[in-house]
Amino acid sequence: MAKQIQAIRGMNDILPTQSPLWQQVESVIRSTVSAYGYSEIRTPIVESTDLFKRSIGEVTDIVEKEMYTFADRNEDSLTLRPEGTASTVRAGNEHGLLYNQEQRLWYMGPMFRHERPQKGRYRQFHQFGVEVYGIPSADVDAEVLMLSARLWDSFGIKEHVKLELNTLGDTAERAAYRDALIAFLEQHKEQLDEDSKRRMYSNPLRVLDSKSPQVQAILTDAPALMDYLGEESKTHFSTLCELLDAVGIEYTVNPRLVRGLDYYNRTVFEWVTDSLGSQGTVLAGGRYDGLVGQLGGKDTPAVGFAMGLERIVLLLQTLELDKDVAPVVDVYVTAMGEKCVVEAIKIAQELRQNLPTLKVMTHCGGGNFKKQMKRADRSGAEYALIIGEDEIANQQVAVKPLRNKNEQLLVARADLATTIKSLF
Ligand code: ATP
Ligand code: MG
Repeated sequence: MAKQIQAIRGMNDILPTQSPLWQQVESVIRSTVSAYGYSEIRTPIVESTDLFKRSIGEVTDIVEKEMYTFADRNEDSLTLRPEGTASTVRAGNEHGLLYNQEQRLWYMGPMFRHERPQKGRYRQFHQFGVEVYGIPSADVDAEVLMLSARLWDSFGIKEHVKLELNTLGDTAERAAYRDALIAFLEQHKEQLDEDSKRRMYSNPLRVLDSKSPQVQAILTDAPALMDYLGEESKTHFSTLCELLDAVGIEYTVNPRLVRGLDYYNRTVFEWVTDSLGSQGTVLAGGRYDGLVGQLGGKDTPAVGFAMGLERIVLLLQTLELDKDVAPVVDVYVTAMGEKCVVEAIKIAQELRQNLPTLKVMTHCGGGNFKKQMKRADRSGAEYALIIGEDEIANQQVAVKPLRNKNEQLLVARADLATTIKSLF
């Protein structure tokens, strides 16, 4: 036998048994963004490598070691998108969507990062994200957080995620803090690990979220970003906190939260769960007022977040909230004998016509009663319709419940749609 070819490590198939849950997650997302008046944007999966280098930052985990970068046939350097914000800004600039106007956008789709695959961390994964442009005030920071909180409500996982919040100040404040932090780290250089030493000058804020306990211990006495904030940044943050209080969204201020991408300023946040081990961040984002300008557009305030779909799916499965996902088939139509096939197909078609949301599968390939009932059961359908010669002669259809012990019904064909409708 020929050797089978396997999927690429860290890239998953979403199998038919899992796709109903994925679809449910996606459908909750779609109705939530729609309830907030956001518009969808779809960008290509491949972009110029420079786009990500210039936006995410040269000295970030993503750009340093996680990107799928390759030369196109004409030697252009291309990259499979590792995230959605850079592409959204690129498209916004290119099509003049961001110039002197407000945009509330969302996207959903696969992202690619060459990471070590483990639970909740894959090389192809999916993100849903929102990006809002043109609004500098904290009310819109609150809006995107409210939108995310509504998602938790709809998924039924509100009790299992919590919000961590921080502010990074504006560019000048960050720069002043950066200098103070470097000065502090220089005094403790010997105790830092290799990663932190390397980042100390290039991206010192990243040292703050070092995973090393020794580094964390040193940081206890490090200067605090909050002390470097000017009035405007302070007011922005306190306004956001007041709005969140007013709408009942609880949060913890985490002064160590800096996020792994370079483009954030002021507000940064993460929604985290305790139920997924170390891959606990399910949604992360913040404000990035400098990025549109940095990528060649006119300076435009912006705020957004990205949510990892795999982690939400895993969380729903872990909490056993994936049980009442709707089955793929509602009604399975059988034909008892070859002479009944045409009528069975017609009845199925009439049902689909009359009840457009009903999921109707017809049995194909013949076989005896037992075989057809086995298939009906395996389809997950709630009811089997039995079309035999007697039923056809009497203009009737037998409706057999498959998931409860109720009696089989004999329904006039003219009343079939009404009866089925009443059963769901
Ligand atoms: P982490 O700290 O877990 O590496 P990150 O800071 O790299 O996350 P972002 O780039 O902000 O994450 O992406 C937003 C969200 O996308 C994450 O919170 C997570 O839910 C999801 N995500 C990121 N990388 C992966 C991955 N490799 N596999 C699955 N989901 C991911
Ligand atoms: Mg990461």
